[in-house]
Amino acid sequence: MITIKDKTFVPFIASEAIQTRIRELAEQINKEYAGKQPLLVVILNGAFLFAADLAKHLTIPCEITFLRVSSYKGTASTGQLKEVLGLTEPVTDRDLIVIEDIVDTGKTLYDICNQLQAQGPSSLAIATLLYKPEAIQQPLDLQYVGFEIENRFVLGYGLDYDGLGRNTPDILVLE
Ligand code: 5GP
Repeated sequence: MITIKDKTFVPFIASEAIQTRIRELAEQINKEYAGKQPLLVVILNGAFLFAADLAKHLTIPCEITFLRVSSYKGTASTGQLKEVLGLTEPVTDRDLIVIEDIVDTGKTLYDICNQLQAQGPSSLAIATLLYKPEAIQQPLDLQYVGFEIENRFVLGYGLDYDGLGRNTPDILVLE
């Protein structure tokens, strides 16, 4: 159990289960990308631990780059759009695997994928550690999903509450 500020979080997914599932995802990626050299596009900050552990089990040659998204107010018609920041690597003609911590409404990844697709990659796949099917508002094609979870607020293993709690080996859930 962890208390951060006013909130208490209880155990949800243990480190061993996370690591076992990540090894399975890596094996799947190794098979499906045999003969290719994908570029892993890691969404900061939340996906840093997932990406690191996944990458350790990849045996195919791969490159890794990192990006952030910033929210800004668009026009009334576009609403809130997430802008991709810090992508220095060219992604044209590359096989991209976007690595995310959690898909909730799906809006963040939708915006990111649109901006990446505009640069003409050869292919684009998504690997997310967690997915909340009940929360999705923007349907996405998710190729690699660690765990489907219920619509509750989770913390740890990269995921934060107000900037805190990212550095736990387990995933916890709001009590
Ligand atoms: P989406 O655009 O899919 O609604 O939101 C994705 C982002 O919201 C994630 O990358 C993550 O930063 C944040 N998020 C969504 N659900 C949770 C959650 O249960 N816990 C935490 N800590 N962050 C979440």
